[in-house]
Amino acid sequence: MPVATKVDCPECDQPLIRKPGGQCPNCGTDVREHVLRARLREKRIEQVVAIVSTILVLGVSLFAGGCTIVEGVLAYAVAGFVMYQLARKTFF
Ligand SMILES: [Zn+2]
Repeated sequence: MPVATKVDCPECDQPLIRKPGGQCPNCGTDVREHVLRARLREKRIEQVVAIVSTILVLGVSLFAGGCTIVEGVLAYAVAGFVMYQLARKTFF
């Protein structure tokens, strides 16, 4: 289980660090389904990021094949920036 996973209670917005009996320790709401969905969403995001970065790396490699070192580095920087923006939009 990744340590960074942070799931908030859907009812009281308290971070669910402990989930005794699958319930929110603060308000007692059943959070099992909510936690499951949050985990699935996180997995999907990871997959999308992996796919997009693979495509970007492949694209940049092909593109950079006909470029000088400087242009290749520039292309890589652009790809990194796009990835960063995408990740930011997906996560926040
Ligand atoms: Zn709660």
